[in-house]
Amino acid sequence: MGVQMTLDGSVHQEVQRNVRVSKASESYHESLEPFHFELEAVCPDTGARAGKLHTPHGIVPTPIFMPVGTQATVKGMMPRDLEEEVDAPIILSNTYHLFLRPGHKTVEALGGLHPFMNWPRAILTDSGGFQVFSLSELRKVREDGVEFRSHLNGDRHVFTPEGTVDVQLALGSDIMMVLDECTEYPASYERARSSMELTTRWARRAFDHYRGPRADLESAHALFPIVQGGMHGDLRVASAESLMELNAYGYAIGGLSVGEPRPESLAMVEVVAPMLPSNKPRYVMGVGLPEELPEYVARGVDMMDCVMPSRNARNGCLFTSEGRIVIKNAKHKEDGGPLDPKCSCYTCRNFSRAYLRHLFLAQEILFSTLGTIHNLRYYLDIMRRMRGSILDGTFPQFLAGMRLGANREA
Ligand SMILES: [Zn+2]
Repeated sequence: MGVQMTLDGSVHQEVQRNVRVSKASESYHESLEPFHFELEAVCPDTGARAGKLHTPHGIVPTPIFMPVGTQATVKGMMPRDLEEEVDAPIILSNTYHLFLRPGHKTVEALGGLHPFMNWPRAILTDSGGFQVFSLSELRKVREDGVEFRSHLNGDRHVFTPEGTVDVQLALGSDIMMVLDECTEYPASYERARSSMELTTRWARRAFDHYRGPRADLESAHALFPIVQGGMHGDLRVASAESLMELNAYGYAIGGLSVGEPRPESLAMVEVVAPMLPSNKPRYVMGVGLPEELPEYVARGVDMMDCVMPSRNARNGCLFTSEGRIVIKNAKHKEDGGPLDPKCSCYTCRNFSRAYLRHLFLAQEILFSTLGTIHNLRYYLDIMRRMRGSILDGTFPQFLAGMRLGANREA
């Protein structure tokens, strides 16, 4: 397996240097079954990767898109459909929300998130940092953590790097994220630098705790640090270099999709992804649109998540091979055809556009369920096709097709 080609030749030197760093640490991780990443293929033209992420709750084929189940539920979806219709091997849940309600101790007393929500497959939880910064009021960032007031009842809480590891361990998540400060956009260089450095200090503390007092649980619960640095390439490089010293199971790239133009997010990924150890999964948080998924994968990204498919579904915006469909539009009123003739999900197998439009206009609950099944299946099908193309060596053609909009006929 070679080093993947970078899309930006200027970072090639870092690639070489950091591959050596990761090689030196391989033996450490070999002893940490069952959590490990198996790299199966790298596209020689782009650097797109196919692999298998082994977790205590099953194997996650990568590249993967993770549906978002904020409150221990993907809104509107039966877990059964998430397994059988969408075939999601992993979902994301949310530490901030579950900490506030029902409380991580409650979830722990009930055996953890997996039995609590009856989800047998893998779960990734974010640290809650992003929600503290986007939802809560009166937050105060301090060296030891972030103080905030609950958006539910105004109660005061403090998230610390150590505490958010403990909360996620109580939830029993397979992949945990360190507490980070998600830098706002736009952010000045100085602001982005101090924010990134705080995130790095917090990550070190989180790992000290995770590998110190909580080390007995390390092999069953991976912890990913998060690369920050705003839209400043050299800060991103510095962040990644510091975090790689932690020799984590995997690495996340955060602080994207915060309002910046898409080329800027892609540029940041182009800087960071090739630096990260090739034998570890790479997760870009909070992206993206269907046509963006292959762009991130082409830059060496293995994991993504976004509320887009599920939230848009509930709002009547459906992604199909024929483009986006706004279901309330009058042209669907008497359309007896399926939502997407090329999709084989439960919704497309059984219901017409006209019926879906009726459900949406009547504000029936069933619309959310049927729309979400389809949108998530559409995303996961793109990931599956993309993975197949990386394995059989046709990813460049797949990418070209997506760029031409050919995905809409695929
Ligand atoms: Zn469908």
